[in-house]
Amino acid sequence: MGKALVSLTFDDGLRCQFERAVPILDRYGFKATFFLVANTDPVFSDGVAENQKYGWRKIDWSAEDIRLLRHMIERGHEIGSHTVSHKRPSINAKPMFEASESKKLIETWMGVEIPSFCYPFYETIQELKQPAIQAGYQQARTGHEDAYYDSPNSVDWFAVDCRQITTEENVSGWVKPGCWHVLTFHGIGNEQDGWEPISEHAFARQMAELEELRKSGAVEVLTFKDAANRLRDNHAWSPSPSNKRARSKLHGRTRQGAQGLDPGGDSRPKSNQQ
Ligand SMILES: [Zn+2]
Repeated sequence: MGKALVSLTFDDGLRCQFERAVPILDRYGFKATFFLVANTDPVFSDGVAENQKYGWRKIDWSAEDIRLLRHMIERGHEIGSHTVSHKRPSINAKPMFEASESKKLIETWMGVEIPSFCYPFYETIQELKQPAIQAGYQQARTGHEDAYYDSPNSVDWFAVDCRQITTEENVSGWVKPGCWHVLTFHGIGNEQDGWEPISEHAFARQMAELEELRKSGAVEVLTFKDAANRLRDNHAWSPSPSNKRARSKLHGRTRQGAQGLDPGGDSRPKSNQQ
């Protein structure tokens, strides 16, 4: 069985992620993917966030932000797109604009190609999947059914599932031999920082445990795009025991996980199985 691959993804361009998570990631050399919203509003709004009493601070693409993000790319992190507005009415009315304009804007700001896209609300695939393909992305993330993948054949590159991380995580449960697991974070800190926050302390604990697993040789941490490229190239992926059906959100929550490699699939923390 091969190593596990884990991709750490962060949504919404929340400032707390850059202030609190990035220094911890850099301490261990973990390269992560940040899906940013391509508008210059300094506060995250999506039609829902406005209803809570905090204004969630986000990247507003100031010259200083652009410098910070470019330096992150130089260190191996990935910047991806998470639409222009992150609002349902605009996504419904102008899906092609949301997919392609965000790519163009972020590419202009970052000076590199942006190959990864992320659907807002974990569930706007219907509206945005074809536009994302047409816009020229190579892969897109959705969520959060907790699926993980045991072969390239099981991956829909424009509907890659993820696991929303909470404070009470069994980190070793993320690591499935020979499988790719995509993890998603939003707020790092408190309620005033972003959606479904986990504390900086909890995040630091999780990354320290992930580092122990990395040192043991059990897992490799790759950005979303680098993992996708690796798996498409199919070099590091041990052959699937069988080409079982592609995993799909349409089949509902995938409790079993990687077919054939983890018949129990029971190492997932029970507390998350709502
Ligand atoms: Zn989002």
